[in-house]
Amino acid sequence: MTNRAFNFNAGPAALPLEVLQQAQQEFIDYAGAGMSIMEMSHRSGIFEEVNDGAQSLLRELFGIPSHYKVLFLQGGASTQFAMIPMNLLGAGQTAAFVNTGSWADKAIKEAKLFGETAVVASSEADKFNRIPDVSNLQIPTNSAYLHITSNETIEGTQYAAYPETGDVTLIGDMSSDILSRPVDVSKFGMIYAGAQKNLGPSGVTIVIAREDLISESPKSIATMLRYDTHVKNNSLYNTPPSFSIYLVGLMLKWVKERGGVAAMEQFNRDKTKLIYDTIDNSGGFYRGFADVNSRSLMNITFRLGSEELEKQFVKESEQQGFVGLKGHRSVGGLRASTYNAVPLESCKALADFMGDFQKRNG
Ligand code: PMP
Repeated sequence: MTNRAFNFNAGPAALPLEVLQQAQQEFIDYAGAGMSIMEMSHRSGIFEEVNDGAQSLLRELFGIPSHYKVLFLQGGASTQFAMIPMNLLGAGQTAAFVNTGSWADKAIKEAKLFGETAVVASSEADKFNRIPDVSNLQIPTNSAYLHITSNETIEGTQYAAYPETGDVTLIGDMSSDILSRPVDVSKFGMIYAGAQKNLGPSGVTIVIAREDLISESPKSIATMLRYDTHVKNNSLYNTPPSFSIYLVGLMLKWVKERGGVAAMEQFNRDKTKLIYDTIDNSGGFYRGFADVNSRSLMNITFRLGSEELEKQFVKESEQQGFVGLKGHRSVGGLRASTYNAVPLESCKALADFMGDFQKRNG
């Protein structure tokens, strides 16, 4: 028997039990090598298979066109906030952004260190409770790219449709919703994501980018911060986070066995409906933070009538085996993160708990 919590952590987050069990089984002796993945050379044939296998499964599941590169990097999505302008923002160019909240804002602040930025849409005036209208963006003509955050992890908002950017390269931070729904990758010049929400454990950052964008970086950039270093070396320029990459591979296999990315989207819709319906049918006892049209399938943010009641909700939920329901310290309230690996049972249990809590406190 395993005693698993109802894990709604925002990241690092729940991993599928099946994935953990397989990792456990293979932990001490991987593929008869007489050692674990962590103990073997990243130049060994076995690890190369793990590395290439994870890459090709990601290509298959996410429908990544052949003229795109897949890189496994380190430093988290936060390092991409800097690497992108360092590599792609030329002299005299502008980095354009849609400001949707906490993470978009961090990406903007970092880009400012390297050149001109322009915010072409923002929902700041509404406390970032929605994705702003991106149907008719005025993107400066000298823009190197437009950067969006496809899911705002803290506010709990997600794009229903991505902007059309014409000739301007679209870059997406998909840290908190990669592989949770099908995406037309060809609309993007680059997509990046820290793995620790939908793809596996922390320690590896996935970059998917059109080859022409990243095959030649400006010569002044440090070796590790140049995309071309990692392109030329198949992400094996230096020692990679090998155990994290291995677990990403297991996670991808798990997604494939469950029907792929479209099946994940349906699964995530079913899970989140249980909780959003509970909020909507609570007569105002629970109040969703995000505008209905911008609601996220990954992070459900909501509030109660007072901070006291919210504290009590968190305390009682913890007593009943729920983890991670306290909202991010910057916005308060409550948040349930429902990434791919979160089971339907956890969401059912949460909806039941919410109903019960309302009965006792409503
Ligand atoms: N972007 C988004 C949307 C995120 O949710 C996060 C992490 N919570 C980051 C970027 C930063 O990722 P990392 O911690 O991997 O640097």
